Amino acid sequence: MKTAVIGFPRIGKNRELKFASEKYFKGESSKEELFAEAKAQRSYSLKVQKEAGIDLISSNDFSFYDGMLDTAVLFNVIPKRYKDLGLSDIDTYFAMARGYQGDKGNVKALAMKKWFNTNYHYIVPEIEDDTVVSLTGNKLFDEYDEASSLGVETKPALCGPFTFLKLTKYSGAKNIDFFAPLLCEEYIKLIKKLDDKGVKWVQFDEPSLVKDLNADNIALFVSLYEKILASKGNVKVLLQTYFGDVRDIYNDLVKLDFDGIGLDLIEGRKTLELITKNGFPTNKTLFAGLVNGKNIWRNDYEKTLSLLGRLKDAGVKDIVLSTSCSLLHVPYTTKSETKLSNEYLKHFAYAEEKLIELKDIASLSDDENAVASDVYKNNRALFEGRKDSTDEDVKKRVSNIKDSDYTRLPVFAEREKIQKNTFNLPFFPTTTIGSFPQTLDVKQARKQFRNGQLSEEEYKTFVKNKIRECIKLQEEIGLDVLVHGEYERNDMVEYFGENLSGYLFTEKAWVQSYGTRCVKPPIIWGDVSRKKAITVEWSVFAKSCSDKPVKGMLTGPVTILNWSFPREDISIKESTLQIALAIRDEVLDLEKNGINIIQIDEAALREKLPLRKSDWYSEYLDWAIPAFRLVASGVKPETQIHTHMCYSEFTDIIPAIDAMDADVITFEASRSDYQILDSLKKNNFKTEVGPGVYDIHSPRVPSTDEIYDALCIMREKLNDEKLWVNPDCGLKTRGETETKASLINLVEAAKKLRELRA
Ligand code: GLN
Ligand code: ZN
Repeated sequence: MKTAVIGFPRIGKNRELKFASEKYFKGESSKEELFAEAKAQRSYSLKVQKEAGIDLISSNDFSFYDGMLDTAVLFNVIPKRYKDLGLSDIDTYFAMARGYQGDKGNVKALAMKKWFNTNYHYIVPEIEDDTVVSLTGNKLFDEYDEASSLGVETKPALCGPFTFLKLTKYSGAKNIDFFAPLLCEEYIKLIKKLDDKGVKWVQFDEPSLVKDLNADNIALFVSLYEKILASKGNVKVLLQTYFGDVRDIYNDLVKLDFDGIGLDLIEGRKTLELITKNGFPTNKTLFAGLVNGKNIWRNDYEKTLSLLGRLKDAGVKDIVLSTSCSLLHVPYTTKSETKLSNEYLKHFAYAEEKLIELKDIASLSDDENAVASDVYKNNRALFEGRKDSTDEDVKKRVSNIKDSDYTRLPVFAEREKIQKNTFNLPFFPTTTIGSFPQTLDVKQARKQFRNGQLSEEEYKTFVKNKIRECIKLQEEIGLDVLVHGEYERNDMVEYFGENLSGYLFTEKAWVQSYGTRCVKPPIIWGDVSRKKAITVEWSVFAKSCSDKPVKGMLTGPVTILNWSFPREDISIKESTLQIALAIRDEVLDLEKNGINIIQIDEAALREKLPLRKSDWYSEYLDWAIPAFRLVASGVKPETQIHTHMCYSEFTDIIPAIDAMDADVITFEASRSDYQILDSLKKNNFKTEVGPGVYDIHSPRVPSTDEIYDALCIMREKLNDEKLWVNPDCGLKTRGETETKASLINLVEAAKKLRELRA
């Protein structure tokens, strides 16, 4: 059995490409130096895959920023405003990715969006009416040649035309129907060029096929590929899908003249059933995505071999063993982890270990005596129990959760009345989302504390001084509900992970999130519980510094789960409930200590929303929303629960958000033209709301008038009794000066608005 990899990480084992790019952005290195690092990374990835014995290795999976942007540039989909800057090719590319501000002009970056159900973000290509779609780029061909010269015959990989057309933004009057035939012609040129070069396989990535598809989508897909495949010559075409199953198009797909079809058997819940029910053509190769490209746990060989057996029983003749998606979504290698003992590490497979797994499974599947081999037995042993991963008390607590635990009483309307009396806040109360600028001194102190240069006592004194100053600042500015500033945390998930048992932390498990930004998700190793109070000391101290209400600040269970590597031996629902109980304990502790406004952030609630709308509730929201409610349901009616969400893209799940049953929700609205307000009105949203009145992602200081105008628009859609005034997210990445200036204007705008009611 042969093996294939859809794509490999590219940011560098030690984030070399990230650092080289950032240096280049700052003007501290030359284009040549950047290109040399890029080449080194490409060579490295080819080398490890080749040495591991992978048969079909991708090229063009490398990117300086993002593969979707690369595909846009390949086909000359470069908006005029970037061309007009007159920059070099690479600088034009970076201008599209990051915006450009300099002597040649001032343009914003293209939009960036979440890549399907991952935490990776792609650049949204933009086609204008006069865009001349044309195969003008060389990157794909150059990288194929470069690999050949290193002795590796690769399959060039790129986004296929259907997904490309679907994800592109059409900024003019001409739409997808106009551009589809034009783009199709260019893909035909591409495949002919590959044929002339003697390329053996090409991989078209079409993840959009795992979403809900209607008849028009299917017709578009079929018409594109009928034409492209008619020109393929001797090139074999692999149609690669991932992140789900292709239930709406399977039967059309297998009729087309593809040589290989790549299907995801990890996240594709129906993939096996599609194959067993409908069969798989004997003249095509199935690229079976059986090694998880998104999670870091070792593959269970017994399970995988049994799945392979079922595929063979279903009549699949030719199978290439593959990853379920690109390995871009996992870190490089467990070999870089020096602090975790092998007892733990042996359970993990990052990208390089997954290569070994592919080879192991392929040879086991060819071996009649597989179960007798050491490779098989050692793998089996990993799944026969893990040390310290189970906690019976936690399990019992989860199984004892009653239906009533998911409901807070009294109902919202009554609580709202009680809370209006308790807090006696003015109309349009002002607040912030939690964090204040994480200035150099804060980062330094944390580092010194970690290194042992500061004692715990000294560190605590430092943080408390910061909190005291922060409270004083907010009082001066005149905010109504204060925060402690979140100086004690580096990251809203890592901080809680570190204080919960059941979590593991890595040193080098970086995964690209977008461009040069990487994240290092913690690993949920076992049953999760709270060891001791986490935030109480800080919140109580903050409260003691003021007579005004001070919010306690927590991260919600769904966000903690979504930004971690989850377990595979229990469901994510079960893990989330465990985390929910732990955070519930913290909520009750805060309340007991006199904190009567508590914010539970669910910034990443949307992250694991299924790609198919039909699965939204049954697969996800039906347990994710109750998990949030479980956290908050134990508090007294007069305790006010706030929540915060980052992306405004929840217009379509407004009823679910209302069902979280928080008392107040703040969210990002300033960048989305307030569309969400209509949706709130239409859905009769009951929760009080603070749609962000300015964008904290930019250092710009909004004027009082600007904020006042934004509030006036909000008042048209929301009752005055429900409207809060706040920035759109935490302020930790901002500077102190602009933060103060912006908040002064914010308070002034709210006061101006109050005059209208006087
Ligand atoms: N409370 C967090 C903060 O203010 C929320 C961060 C977020 O939404 N990403 O930083
Ligand atoms: Zn936010």
